[in-house]
Amino acid sequence: MRNYGPIDDVTVFELYPGIQLTRDNIEHYRALAEQKLVINRCGDCGYWIYPHRPMCPECWSLKVKPEEISGFGTVFMFTLLYQLRDPKSHIMEPVPVAAVELAEQKGLRYLSRIVNCAPEDIAHDMPVRLTWIEIGNMEWPAFEPVPGGLG
Ligand SMILES: [Zn+2]
Repeated sequence: MRNYGPIDDVTVFELYPGIQLTRDNIEHYRALAEQKLVINRCGDCGYWIYPHRPMCPECWSLKVKPEEISGFGTVFMFTLLYQLRDPKSHIMEPVPVAAVELAEQKGLRYLSRIVNCAPEDIAHDMPVRLTWIEIGNMEWPAFEPVPGGLG
């Protein structure tokens, strides 16, 4: 695990130069740099809100705050990417990318990579858990099968 110490806003911008950071998503990326996956949650009704938005779509509350998730979920859908965006990448094998339905709430889905699993073994509703992978000198969230199948 990397330790950046207290991560101020300027550092978050420096860590993620390719990402359009806003007041709604900066806490998400600040947490990623600390290897924590946080999702915004409504402080009034408890609804989890993703993609990042400033207002709760359920009760219109503006009391939206980031909260760490359990890291467990299931594969809602997935695809195999045969080409990464970086044309200089030597990786040619398919990269499994999935919408993981997080255990916190029905319909709360996070797009991420599936690792530690052969592409042909990935299945819908497969239980997965959060792990971290290094891409371009940064740690990024990914999901792997839960041993034994239950989270
Ligand atoms: Zn709400």
